[in-house]
Amino acid sequence: MSMDSFVHSSLPTRVVFGRGRLGQVAEEAVRLEGTRALVLSTPHQRPEAERVAEHLGRLAAGVFDQATMHTPVEVTERAIATLRSSNADCVVSVGGGSTIGLAKAIAVRTGVPQVAIPTTYAGSEVTPILGETEDGVKTTRRGPEILPETVIYDPGLTDTLPVSLSVTSGLNSMAHAVEGIYARDGSPIHTLVAMEGLRAMRDALPTLVHDPADAAARDLALYGAWLCGTVLGAVGMSVHHKLCHTLGGSLDLPHAETHAILLPHTIGFVEETVPRQLAPVAELFGGEAGGGLHDFAASLGAPLRLSDLGIAEADLDRMAELATANPYWSPRPLDRDAIRSLLQRAWSGERPN
Ligand code: NAD
Repeated sequence: MSMDSFVHSSLPTRVVFGRGRLGQVAEEAVRLEGTRALVLSTPHQRPEAERVAEHLGRLAAGVFDQATMHTPVEVTERAIATLRSSNADCVVSVGGGSTIGLAKAIAVRTGVPQVAIPTTYAGSEVTPILGETEDGVKTTRRGPEILPETVIYDPGLTDTLPVSLSVTSGLNSMAHAVEGIYARDGSPIHTLVAMEGLRAMRDALPTLVHDPADAAARDLALYGAWLCGTVLGAVGMSVHHKLCHTLGGSLDLPHAETHAILLPHTIGFVEETVPRQLAPVAELFGGEAGGGLHDFAASLGAPLRLSDLGIAEADLDRMAELATANPYWSPRPLDRDAIRSLLQRAWSGERPN
């Protein structure tokens, strides 16, 4: 075994994992010196937010249930007004990446501590990254004050995640792990974490498709999502995340589906250049990383075609242009023609070769 040189750092998050751990939320808020906690959710997950408030008991300052996609600054401002009027000094977010994004946006402006209780596999709860929109313009920032101090993973909250979102959100999390393996600032520990996360997802997702209520598979998938998200938070992402960001932002596409569809294609693209680095992923998925991920996604009934998201073939030229307009690091150099043909295959759902 030969070792390349590396620099490793990891982030300071407290993680509480297990079924029923939601009941510990008041204790976790107190540990952060919170005396009144505002609970955040989407309108759809208001019942879960109320359950969290019940567990908070006398610490509950109320529920703000207006979290929405893309973290609009205008919603954040309304949430901060509620935080102030209810005298809250910490936030508890219960939901997917959109709700956790709102908590981060509040924390970065007010300094209040956060307890995040994720209910999807997106992984935002363990990253110091915040994407927001103001007047339709998306900005992304990164900083230690954005990272939630405490995460409670209670898999019982994911039992209601519909199969389709379980699959696409699971593939979204796997994208964090695979890109972490060839990251420029990767390390042996992040690679171990990424591989363990990928293995957990590979084992859990097929079971969930057949039995979404399988508790052991739900537990395993959320464990995998934690590991994959940890990699996203710790190292830089490249071609896959950038492409999803470009397409998602300019065509207003659904987050998890876009990741799910592009993953086999971006990984197949990179695999041609760094096959040795991606060999453990290839081994996990039947011999090829890109092709294997395509077969895995197909076996789960995941969406496979960009055309299914309503993208017109005529948009692909512009997308390839946009995706290569601002060069960024990638293990395989990006050229417009190669990205254009990657997008063509993803548009028609062909197996990457
Ligand atoms: P989401 O948070 O937008 O949730 C999608 C829908 O599913 C919502 O209506 C939500 O209420 C519902 N939902 C969530 N959990 C559920 C459950 N267990 N049962 C039933 N319904 C449930 O989706 P997402 O994919 O988790 O997050 C996507 C957003 O998060 C994007 O805006 C993305 O940019 C952001 N994100 C950010 C980071 C980061 O590090 N900053 C990482 C990943 C994702």
